Amino acid sequence: MNRNPRYDILFEPVKIGPVTAPNRFYQVPHASGMTEANPRVRSAFRETKAEGGWGVVSTGALSIHPSSDDSPLPYARLWDKNDIRSHALCCDAIHSHGALAAAELWHGGASVMNRTSRIPPYSPSGISWAATHVGFMGNLRPRIMDKKDIRDVIAWQVAAAKRAKDAGFDIVYIYAGMGYLGYEFLLEEYNHRSDEYGGSVKNRVRFVREMIESTKDAVGNTCGVALRISLEELRSKSSDSHSSEAHEVVELLSDLPDLWDVKMDSSPTDCGASRFRPECAHEPIIDFVKKVTEKPVVGVGRFTSPDTMVSQIKRGVLDLIGGARPSIADPFLPNKINQGREGDIRECIGCNICISSWHDGVPVRCTQNATAGEEWRKGWHPERFETPGSDDSILIVGGGPAGLEAGLTAARRGYQVTIADKNTQMGGRLIYETQLPGLTEWGRITDYRLNALKTMSNVNLYLDSNLGVNDILGLEHSRIGIATGAHWTKALYSSLEIAAAELNRPDVYTPDDLALGMIPEGPSLVYDFDNYYLGGVIAESLALQDINVSYATPAGHASAWTIMTNELPFVHQSLEKSGVEVYTQMLLNDFDGKKVTLSNIFTNMPKSLAIKSVIIVGLRLPNDQLYNQLMSRSSEFAQAGIKSVECIGDALAPGALVHAVYSGHEFARQLDRPPDELYLRDIPIAESPPNKVI
Ligand code: ADP
Ligand code: SF4
Repeated sequence: MNRNPRYDILFEPVKIGPVTAPNRFYQVPHASGMTEANPRVRSAFRETKAEGGWGVVSTGALSIHPSSDDSPLPYARLWDKNDIRSHALCCDAIHSHGALAAAELWHGGASVMNRTSRIPPYSPSGISWAATHVGFMGNLRPRIMDKKDIRDVIAWQVAAAKRAKDAGFDIVYIYAGMGYLGYEFLLEEYNHRSDEYGGSVKNRVRFVREMIESTKDAVGNTCGVALRISLEELRSKSSDSHSSEAHEVVELLSDLPDLWDVKMDSSPTDCGASRFRPECAHEPIIDFVKKVTEKPVVGVGRFTSPDTMVSQIKRGVLDLIGGARPSIADPFLPNKINQGREGDIRECIGCNICISSWHDGVPVRCTQNATAGEEWRKGWHPERFETPGSDDSILIVGGGPAGLEAGLTAARRGYQVTIADKNTQMGGRLIYETQLPGLTEWGRITDYRLNALKTMSNVNLYLDSNLGVNDILGLEHSRIGIATGAHWTKALYSSLEIAAAELNRPDVYTPDDLALGMIPEGPSLVYDFDNYYLGGVIAESLALQDINVSYATPAGHASAWTIMTNELPFVHQSLEKSGVEVYTQMLLNDFDGKKVTLSNIFTNMPKSLAIKSVIIVGLRLPNDQLYNQLMSRSSEFAQAGIKSVECIGDALAPGALVHAVYSGHEFARQLDRPPDELYLRDIPIAESPPNKVI
C-alpha cells in the first residue's frame, strides 16, 4: 500500500547541526534496563526500531563518569574504551538501517547515590532529591561542588562526548532535566549558590551553557549537540523579564544547542500513565519553545496517531515526533505509516509496565509487544515469524489477552488456528476492566489482535463456545493451548503476609462478581492486597456509581505496586477526589454484615467501620480445571490426534496483562521448537581487561 499523502510531512528530513535525520520520527532517549552487562540485547532492541523506520534512535541515560552511578537501577556507561566498544555495536546496528544514533550523556548529580562507586554525589548546593518511597530513598547527602568540581564535570562531559563520537554516535546530549545535575543548577530550589553559577536565571544557566559550549567545541563539527531539558517547574516560576523562567532559560540558550529535546520534570508527569494522562499531555508546557529558537525541537506525548503527529508539526509545536513508549510497543510504527498501514500500528496502551521493568532492574518488558527485549535473547522479531515446523492445527481455548496473542502469533507463523471462547465477545478480563475509570485505552490489547486475526484466512474465531474435554478430544486439533484465565478468591490476608482462609458470605464480593454486574450495597469496603491497579480502580468506580466506599490495604499505600508504573501519586489523588477514605497498613479481621474490623498490621491497633459489603481484591487462582481434566485423559490424546496440551496466561500463573500476553506469545513461538531451549545470555564486551584500559 502507498503512504497517505497527508503524512508526507512526517517523512521529511530534518537537519540537526552537522547531521541530518532522514525523517521526523525520533526515538527519544528512554531507559531500557540494558547496561554494559547486556550490550547485544541492547543493540538488537535499538536496531529493531531503526529497522522499523525511526530516523533517530537514542540510548537511555549514559553515565559520563563514576560520580554518576544510579545503581541498583540499571544504567549504561561511557567511561572507557571497553564501553566505547560496547556502544559501537549498537551504533553500527542503528546505522545499518540508515538511522542516526544519539547518545544521552548523563550526570545524575545529587539524584544518584553512587552506591557502587562510593563517590559522594555532586550537587550545586548540597540539596538532594529526598524521595519518600523505599527503593528510591537514599541516605547519603551530596557534596557541594566547588569551581574545580564544575570544571571536572565539564571535562568529563567533553571526554564522554569524544568517546561517544568514537563509538559512532551522530548526536550527543547535554542533560538538564528530571532532577539531574544540569537541572539542579537551573532550579533555585537546588541551586543556592552565591557565585556566578547561582542567583539570577542568567547565572543558573551558566553551567548548562558551558556544558553545551564545551561539547560543541569538542565534537560539534561532526555530531549534533542536543539539550534535553525539563520545563515544567521552570514554566511555573514567574520571571521579571519573561513569561516564565522557562521562557527566560530557552531564550538565553536559544540557538546554542543544535536540537532542543523538551520534557516534563518527573517520571510520573513526563511518562504519565494513560489512566491519568492523555496523548499530547506535554504540549501546554513545551508549546512555546519553537517560538523562541530557530533550532529543531523534539518532544513526546505518547503519540500513536499520525494525524496528531502531523498536527504537532503543522501547528508549530514540534519539528520531530519524539517517541519512547510508542516505539517500544511498535518499533515499526514509522514504516507502517510510510506503507499506508497505520491501521496495523500496535498502539501503546500507556500502562507503564515498561517503566516498571526499569524500576525492577531488568531489561524492558512491554504489555503490547512481547518481543521487546527478546530480539537477541530469544531471536523474536516483532514483524517476522518462523515458518511452521509442522502442519499441526492449533486450538486455543479462551480469547483473553493470552489466547488472542497465542492465536495471532501462531497464525502469523502460518499455522491453522482456531480460537474459541465461551463468552459472547473476545477479550477475557479486559471486557470488564476496560469499562473501569481510565482503562479504556487498554482495550487496544484486544482491538489490535482481533483486528489482525479477522483479516487472516488461516484463522477461525468462535464465540459462545464453552468447550469441555469431550469437545476438545473430538475437534481434531493437534496442539491445544488452554487460556482459560483465572478467578479472584475471597481469601483474606494474614499477619504473615500471605493469603489466608476465605471470607465466604453473600455480602462479600470479588472483581469477578462485579464483572458479572453485581452491585454491592453501600457503605462498601474494597480490601486490596493484590496491590496493583484493580482494587483502587474498583473503589473509584463504585464511588462514581454513588456508592459510599472506603479502601483498606495491608500495604503502606493504596495500589502500592503502582509506584513502579508512575501511577501511585495519581491513584491517591483520584481516590481523594472520589471521596474514598483510604486505610493503609490494615488487615481485615472480621466482617458481620454491619461492621468490618480492621487491625494495623504492625501494631494490631483495631479499627471498626460501619460497612454492609466487602469487595476483596486479593488472591487469584488459575482456571485450570479444563486443563487438569484433559490431562487426566491423556491416554486418549494419540487417538484424538492431540500432540500437546499446554496451559497459558493466567490459567498457568495469574499475573498482569504483560504476563498473559508474553505467555501467549511464547506458546506460539515455541511450537515445534526444542522444549527446554535456553535463551541466549549476554556478556559484557571487553577486549582488554578493564585495568589496562583508559
Ligand atoms: P488471560 O489473561 O490469561 O488471557 P482471561 O481471563 O483474560 O485470561 O481470559 C480467559 C478467557 O477464557 C475468557 O474470555 C473466558 O471466557 C475464556 N474461557 C474460560 N473457560 C473456557 C472454556 N472452557 N471454553 C472457552 N472459553 C473459555
Ligand atoms: Fe506502552 Fe505499556 Fe508497552 Fe510501556 S509497556 S510501551 S506503556 S504498552
